[in-house]
Amino acid sequence: MRRKIKGVLFDLDGVLYVGDKIVPGTHATLDYCRDNHIPFRFITNTSTRTVGDIADKLQRMGLEIMPDDIFSAVSASRDFLRQQDNPSVHLLIRDSAQSDFDEFVQDTQNPDFVIVGDIGAAWNYKLLNRVFRELMEGAELLAMHMNKYWQTEQGLQMDIGAFVVGLEFVSGKQAKVIGKPSQTFFKLAVESLDLSAEEVLVIGDDIENDIGGGHASGLAGVLVKTGKYREDIVKASDVIPDAIIDSIADLPEILESHR
Ligand SMILES: [Mg+2]
Repeated sequence: MRRKIKGVLFDLDGVLYVGDKIVPGTHATLDYCRDNHIPFRFITNTSTRTVGDIADKLQRMGLEIMPDDIFSAVSASRDFLRQQDNPSVHLLIRDSAQSDFDEFVQDTQNPDFVIVGDIGAAWNYKLLNRVFRELMEGAELLAMHMNKYWQTEQGLQMDIGAFVVGLEFVSGKQAKVIGKPSQTFFKLAVESLDLSAEEVLVIGDDIENDIGGGHASGLAGVLVKTGKYREDIVKASDVIPDAIIDSIADLPEILESHR
């Protein structure tokens, strides 16, 4: 990586924290960015909380991060729906994220859009079959993201990607993906920094969505070995990170050498 880096997009889960545990070095790295006038934002595929709730969680960890600094799959889904013509929606999301969608008409029979977020153990045949029928009746499929899995304090946990792929398979429809690795999503976050994509680095624990998605949008990508990082999966991937570091604690060194 020979370019100069002037701004950073941080993935949250697996980079700043795993579960409720903050990754050591997070405070120091954010302080380094502030002290050196390197602007940053946070980009997350988390679909279980509103941006306000995410900011609350970060503030409880002692991090001064405001809701406006966070670009999430939830807020981006809401923004996408606002651009449609008064759409009716079938929301497959948890109660904790519902309030961001209060303004839309909910319809679980014949909606314009089915929106798939993380509903954990609530998946079952009856629900999948209902969504399948809605799609066959003309609904469009919106996926907050296509993540395969994430790291919890108990181990890897299956994410919503497989359900979205299954629904695509049976309906013959392609989901519109809202969060990472969508280029629209990266573009929004980069533009908010007033920088060009080439001047921005994304740091994440997901080789495909964070690093691959970042590369496709013109950003440099630094992979951390915390969170869902697994050496064999990274070796098997076509995506080559610009750097692989042990954790967020090592980011200042990278930034220092690319000023
Ligand atoms: Mg992550």
